[in-house]
Amino acid sequence: MRNRAAAEDGEQRYDVVVVGGGGAGLSGALALVRARRTVLVIDSGRPRNAPAGAVHAYLGREGTPPAELLAIGRDEVARYGGTFLNGSVAAVRRLGDQGFRVVLADKRAVRARRLLVATGLVDELPEVPGLAPRWGRDVLYCPYCHGWEVQDQPIGILSTDRRGVHQALLWRQWSRDITLFLHTGPEPTAEDYGKLAARGIAVVPGRVTALETAGGRLHAVRLHAVRPEAGNPVRCRVLVVAPRFAARADFLTSVGLKPAEHRVDGRLVGTYVASDGKGATAVPGVYAAGNVTNPNDQVMAAAVAGARAAAAVNTDLIDEETRRAVSADRDRVGAGRTPAPVAGKAAHGLRRPWWAAGGGPPVGTD
Ligand SMILES: Cc1cc2nc3c(=O)[nH]c(=O)nc-3n(C[C@H](O)[C@H](O)[C@H](O)COP(=O)(O)OP(=O)(O)OC[C@H]3O[C@@H](n4cnc5c(N)ncnc54)[C@H](O)[C@@H]3O)c2cc1C
Repeated sequence: MRNRAAAEDGEQRYDVVVVGGGGAGLSGALALVRARRTVLVIDSGRPRNAPAGAVHAYLGREGTPPAELLAIGRDEVARYGGTFLNGSVAAVRRLGDQGFRVVLADKRAVRARRLLVATGLVDELPEVPGLAPRWGRDVLYCPYCHGWEVQDQPIGILSTDRRGVHQALLWRQWSRDITLFLHTGPEPTAEDYGKLAARGIAVVPGRVTALETAGGRLHAVRLHAVRPEAGNPVRCRVLVVAPRFAARADFLTSVGLKPAEHRVDGRLVGTYVASDGKGATAVPGVYAAGNVTNPNDQVMAAAVAGARAAAAVNTDLIDEETRRAVSADRDRVGAGRTPAPVAGKAAHGLRRPWWAAGGGPPVGTD
């Protein structure tokens, strides 16, 4: 059903409004427009990987700049009639069984029967002077995204929670020169110290107070010296951090959807919108995909999640349309019209399928 009408008050109405036009949102939008749904993608233009020069580990488009990959995706969605609005969704209101009113920060508003939320997350970085501007360049998180490019270089791991030891052991796959800066993270256990020593990973206590650059690149980190023998500053060309992942979902509180807390050993490391395996959230009609539900999704996984959620949205709409059709049929029967019995060769004016008619495809006309 193509359903892009203007509501009574002039607001455009869509089958689905996709909030967020990154990998998850565009992939969901593509599946939905190809399912003949009217789709609007609202996007504020701040994908998580924007600081990176290229998207890696994306089969078929390895090494493409992030903006270029999204432009290709937009073009594909537009080719099937998908539409776009540049802007930021500020609030969503439920309209009884009519779906949702989606309000942008600039007060523009549209209506949607279903919502697909693919707004991603914000990486909240540790507060160390000089760190934030280097994010995505030589301050990194994901070795599958950047490890190849920085292999064999001196890599520092800035520990802020229990993830530090795990990250040190993980990044060791890409370089033998790994230093774990304990910074504000917990003291490793005796077992952890054993693992780190066995893998040749240096452990440096003390707080990192600054990043030093040379020639536009990270050169070393400076410590609040507790043990001068550890050296200060300590040479490193890459600093790995463990951000706090904050789901971009504040606008959903108006429909009763509050992000859940993600804790590691009791410490808050992020928030996410909880959803089932197909993207359905606790609020009927609201679906979510990509980093807003799972911070570990890389671009390809986010795109898969978007496509999967799109299928669930479409099934949900089909169920609603079928319920309405059955109800309308019953109303007609109540008004005196007798529906054709499901018998003989015809039912409701439709030819019976050959498998229900005793074998062999239908031949000729009824
Ligand atoms: C520095 C860095 C480098 C990375 N490199 C790689 C890599 O090489 N390969 C890889 O596979 N992954 C990489 N990733 C991970 C990648 O960024 C994510 O997997 C991907 O962005 C998740 O896609 P998404 O669609 O869920 O979210 P996003 O890509 O973040 O897209 C969300 C979109 O929603 C929009 N939005 C947010 N809130 C609103 C709102 N209220 N209204 C309207 N729009 C809104 C945003 O502006 C954004 O455009 C990297 C991440 C970082 C931080």
